[in-house]
Amino acid sequence: MASYDIVLLDVEGTTTPISFVHDVLFPYITNNVSDFLASNWNDPALQTHIRAIADQANLDAQSAISSAIPIDLLNDTPEEIRSKILANIDWQMKADRKIGALKGLQGFMWQTGYKNGQLLGAMFPDAVMAIKRWCEKSRSVYIYSSGSVEAQKLIFGYSDHGDLSGLLSGHYDTKVGAKIESQSYLRIAGDIGVASGRVLFVSDNVSEIRAASEAGMQTVVSVRPGNAPIPESELGVFKTVTDFMEIPL
Ligand SMILES: [Mg+2]
Repeated sequence: MASYDIVLLDVEGTTTPISFVHDVLFPYITNNVSDFLASNWNDPALQTHIRAIADQANLDAQSAISSAIPIDLLNDTPEEIRSKILANIDWQMKADRKIGALKGLQGFMWQTGYKNGQLLGAMFPDAVMAIKRWCEKSRSVYIYSSGSVEAQKLIFGYSDHGDLSGLLSGHYDTKVGAKIESQSYLRIAGDIGVASGRVLFVSDNVSEIRAASEAGMQTVVSVRPGNAPIPESELGVFKTVTDFMEIPL
């Protein structure tokens, strides 16, 4: 492996267990949303998210989506609105819907959960050690994840290894482009102001690794418990590690 100046890290399956979102973040919403709505109902920030969910529910009801119940913010009682909002969130989450209004409320709840200590971003200890070592050896560490930049900052800022935000030089999400397109990696290198060959990209996803490699980046595949197995045809094509401290400096 050649030398490198920049390390670009994926999050889920790489710095953080692949199960974190489904085993920690989503259950946090499911288990807390009822109490959260009750105790924060008059918070203007929450009301903005409630209006967005109601607008979406009314659109869905017009489009004859069978699970959608219209929500009348002017004429329903607060109790009716709250119970309809809860039912709405329940079916959207069971359907694993990725729609703006739901994501907005989820993000708002996660932000609150991290800030009050109910949520901690899960980190593999060797990933934290390696990030610290890279910083000591004058490498700059960036994150590129399909989770939003805001969500990334929460995971690292409120991690189970403390506030790691000072170790990171920047964040990218899919606003820069899809993670399986090599163009996205060229854009990131251009934005950082470095030749792509000076960047080391680490991810559990072989399609992402191939895209980064096609863009000229150096790559390492992260092999972690719970990750999808690497397809047999890809074995031996890219360097793999089970521990970040195995990655040469
Ligand atoms: Mg990943």
